[in-house]
Amino acid sequence: MTRLGMVIDLKKCTGCYACSIACKAANNTPPGVTWARVLKKETGEDAPGERVTLPVLRMHCAIRPA
Ligand code: SF4
Repeated sequence: MTRLGMVIDLKKCTGCYACSIACKAANNTPPGVTWARVLKKETGEDAPGERVTLPVLRMHCAIRPA
């Protein structure tokens, strides 16, 4: 089965959760179950309150027949 891969520029990730919502909708997961997560962490390394986001995706997406 053909699988899809995604490359995400983490410098452009805004933490909007659209990928998480799209995955949940596409896979019809039950309430409370989220396969694609977006982690957020305050770092403050370069500026106070600076935050990094990290989308954690399963990369199991398959091409579905039309
Ligand atoms: S949270 Fe997901 S959809 Fe939103 S910018 Fe980051 S990777 Fe893209």
